[in-house]
Amino acid sequence: MEFKVVAEAFRKLEVTSERLELISILATLFSKADASNIHMLVYLLQGRVAAPYTGIEIGMGEKLVEEAIARAYGVDKGEVERMYKELGDLGLVAERLAGNKKQMTLFSEPLTLERVYNNFYKIATASGEGVVDKKIRLLADLLKDAEPLEARYIVRIPIGRLRLGIGDATILEALAVAKLGDRSYREDLERAYNYVSDLGYVAKLLYEKGLEGIRQVKPVLGIPIRPALAQRAASLEEIMQRMGGECAAEAKYDGFRLQIHKKGDQVWIFSRRMENMTGLFPDITKAVLEQIDANEVIFEGEAIAYNEETGEFYPFQVTIQRKRKYGIEKAAEEYPLKLFSFDIMYLEGEDLTPKPYTERRKILEGIIKKGDTIELSERIIARSVKELRDFFESCVERGLEGIMAKDLKAPYIAGARKWAWIKYKRVMKSQLSDTLDLVIVGYYKGRGQRAKLGIGGVLVAVYDPKNDVFKTVAKVGSGFTEEQFVQLKQLLDQITLPHKHPRVVAKIDADVWVEPKYVITVLADEITRSPNHTAGWDGERGLALRFPRAVSFVREDKGPEDATTEEELIQMYKQQKHVKVEEGEDSY
Ligand code: AMP
Repeated sequence: MEFKVVAEAFRKLEVTSERLELISILATLFSKADASNIHMLVYLLQGRVAAPYTGIEIGMGEKLVEEAIARAYGVDKGEVERMYKELGDLGLVAERLAGNKKQMTLFSEPLTLERVYNNFYKIATASGEGVVDKKIRLLADLLKDAEPLEARYIVRIPIGRLRLGIGDATILEALAVAKLGDRSYREDLERAYNYVSDLGYVAKLLYEKGLEGIRQVKPVLGIPIRPALAQRAASLEEIMQRMGGECAAEAKYDGFRLQIHKKGDQVWIFSRRMENMTGLFPDITKAVLEQIDANEVIFEGEAIAYNEETGEFYPFQVTIQRKRKYGIEKAAEEYPLKLFSFDIMYLEGEDLTPKPYTERRKILEGIIKKGDTIELSERIIARSVKELRDFFESCVERGLEGIMAKDLKAPYIAGARKWAWIKYKRVMKSQLSDTLDLVIVGYYKGRGQRAKLGIGGVLVAVYDPKNDVFKTVAKVGSGFTEEQFVQLKQLLDQITLPHKHPRVVAKIDADVWVEPKYVITVLADEITRSPNHTAGWDGERGLALRFPRAVSFVREDKGPEDATTEEELIQMYKQQKHVKVEEGEDSY
């Protein structure tokens, strides 16, 4: 497939602000691919060459890319830098230089999708001596033969500035249209994708084996399953009612969710976002080999730093320190982790996800040997609200977040937020019962004091998975330090757009629109009705946050599709009313 076709589609995607058009452009592009190259298209659209879990990233610094541009077009590096200052985008710099060059050379070999993908794959996996030069050479090699428009995108890919902002669900929908002729097949593709969180794998399977192949997908060792998610309830009474008078209740640990795969001596550890984190957890890897009595297994648990002396759990911030400051070995020694296992999805070739919770739990209990690191999550079977309440109180007393109620009969529902799991956390007075994770879709330049920073607040949105769009819910201007604002502006300025992104639904304007990419955690006092925001729109009004403030900087562990959903927001709105009526009755 010629890369020119891909570049032309990228150009169209870049200028559209309509979601349906986005799907149609993608579907047309996908229908030109076959089983040998569809995965390449799917990955490149997201600026990648492999699924995130592989850890294979193209990532090249701007300096190296400038060097490659200079080399490809035989110009001085200073000239590239000067043009970059003028145009503000290295992609446009390459486009212009390729245009100049084109007038001078008579012919060059047309680029193919395969060649572009393969060079980027080599760039992503290059290592050893002379690696920097090798990367520059591979990129310059592509640029030499690129048409101007192709050069624009070839440069934007390695510096992570493709800015297409196309989510997984949109790609799945376009694949359904392209290959099965109907967007409703997106559900089948989504189900498969929930088991093997690799878009390229799913796309290839679809092109090779059709709908039948897609419907038979099972978990695969080494490829993370998309984790099951929990709903939230306003009261323990509600939980009991929804569960039909009986449920399991587990301690809810405020740690790091880990999905662990084991095949013989090989262990993979994935984060909630399905990134491969094996290297961060040598202590857990060791414990898995010692304590897990199974050859092939996929199971899940929450890792949390634990004080052996006092028997207390450390707060989340301590648990994640090993991601940041500390040397891994040092952190492992100072703050040993415990892994509280709570589910199992696969054992010795068998997909356990369709089995009911009680059976999975029994199987999980059977494979954990006694040891210092891996334990089962603490749990009870509750048959009354009182039993739930006693357990909840004992958990909170010990510094835990709350409880997780689980439907005894439910299967493991990968990738979805269902009532099979319901979380219930401790609540602070005069605030909403929970924080919201919201996607930044634009920003405001700021007035007065903030004007000098160039940013005074951000427009944030919830996620609507059904339509795969983001709907605005608040402007957030407090909670960030000046320093954080400056940092935030730097991040956002790399992903600005000349118009609202096609996946954003908004009634109000931002000063600067950005690609929906970054998630922040926000706390608010209340959810109110508002004509300005589109989240929870009832035909007249939407929902907005009252006194929103950021309680986190950009969340590294959450992508835009991991944000709080519109449905959750509506539920929180309804639950808050409920709580108000009952105010005083509940002591927590
Ligand atoms: P939240 O992040 O507040 O939506 O709560 C859901 C998270 O709670 C899961 O993603 C897990 O990381 C965590 N968690 C802690 N304890 C448990 C448990 N016993 N069962 C399931 N999830 C748990």
